[in-house]
Amino acid sequence: MAMFTPSEAPAAFSPSPRVLLGPGPSEVPPRVLAAMGMPLLGHLDPEFVNLMDETQQLLRYVFQTKNRLTMAVSGTGSAGMEAVVVNLIEPGDPMLVCVNGVFGGRMVDVAERAGAKVSVIERPFGEVFDPDEVRDAIRRVRPKVVGIVHAETSTGAWQPIEDIARAAHEADALIAIDTVTSLGGVPVEIDGWDIDAVYSGTQKCLSCPPGLAPVSFGNRASDVIAQRKTKVQSWYLDMSMIQRYWGSDRFYHHTAPISMNYALREALAIVVEEGLESRIERHALNARALKAGLAAMGMRLVTDEQHALPQLTCIRIPDGIEDMPVRKRLLHDWGIEIGGGLGPLKGQAWRIGLMGHGSRQVYVTLLLAAMETCLRDLGLPIHAGAALAAASEVYTQDAASPV
Ligand SMILES: *Cc1c(COP(=O)(O)O)cnc(C)c1O
Repeated sequence: MAMFTPSEAPAAFSPSPRVLLGPGPSEVPPRVLAAMGMPLLGHLDPEFVNLMDETQQLLRYVFQTKNRLTMAVSGTGSAGMEAVVVNLIEPGDPMLVCVNGVFGGRMVDVAERAGAKVSVIERPFGEVFDPDEVRDAIRRVRPKVVGIVHAETSTGAWQPIEDIARAAHEADALIAIDTVTSLGGVPVEIDGWDIDAVYSGTQKCLSCPPGLAPVSFGNRASDVIAQRKTKVQSWYLDMSMIQRYWGSDRFYHHTAPISMNYALREALAIVVEEGLESRIERHALNARALKAGLAAMGMRLVTDEQHALPQLTCIRIPDGIEDMPVRKRLLHDWGIEIGGGLGPLKGQAWRIGLMGHGSRQVYVTLLLAAMETCLRDLGLPIHAGAALAAASEVYTQDAASPV
């Protein structure tokens, strides 16, 4: 047992300033942090209930859906993944999961634990699936649910979804997609693409701290949940009970994380203020500038340019350069966090996130300057100022282009 005397009480925690340019959590606007400091309301207080209703409306906007069953599950993005899987799957149900990175792999694990009979198709890390190969697999497996990641944060790969959704429906399967990293950064069209179930997280392009998982279920998925023969394997994530709290019953299920819900409402209000379209364009512009700067330093993307996400850029670590010393120096000298490689890319790649509030010219400039300094000090033959000049040209061209 740890013993403390009063004088040994830890001082108030005071984190060092950081610029979060990794795979999440991302930079959070001060207005969102301030919302978290507001006094608590009870989880059934009429004002809190009203905030939940507003949040549902805001989530329908960011997901571009009319789905009634749209809400924020308590827990991080992985809780959203688990909520979607355990509510749609009953033991023995066939599920097809497309794996081209770490998060597709996680979906396999979650589905197996939920008792699904899982079939997997794979693509190497960095690649995306062709709709025809997924259609073939769907015809072979005849799954109840097809699971796929829209924005694979472990590789920066941006998976086109629409044709795969169509292929799933041709075979009467449901399509469930992971939009943890895509939501708020690239187009996510739940109704337009006819997606049955979707989950996301708050700490990537929504620029809110981690802690909630927005989810949405369409009519087909809601019917599947309503017609289950067995109880959902997770008590906590059972949507039939959670929806009674988010719906007009206001039935107590668990105490909502009040402050997190304040933060999400604020973060979504900021998305509305900016407008989804402008937000997506901003992500695209800053990514172009970042990639121009990285290319000017001779760095190569892990993903084809054509399928590279704007909000998460995964680059190969140059030959002869070690991963950790560079990331340590970025953190120590500039306060910048970027991500390392995951799975087979561990030690081989860096992941740079320009997500939400973090997707700004000032951060692109800071990161490129810091990275160039590090790499030149380590002896890479990079022309001084080359990275910033390349990025700056992208911004200049953009300012000059007709709107
Ligand atoms: C971050 C992430 C998750 C997991 O979210 P957590 O909030 O870390 O639980 C799942 N899928 C993708 C694609 C992610 O980027």
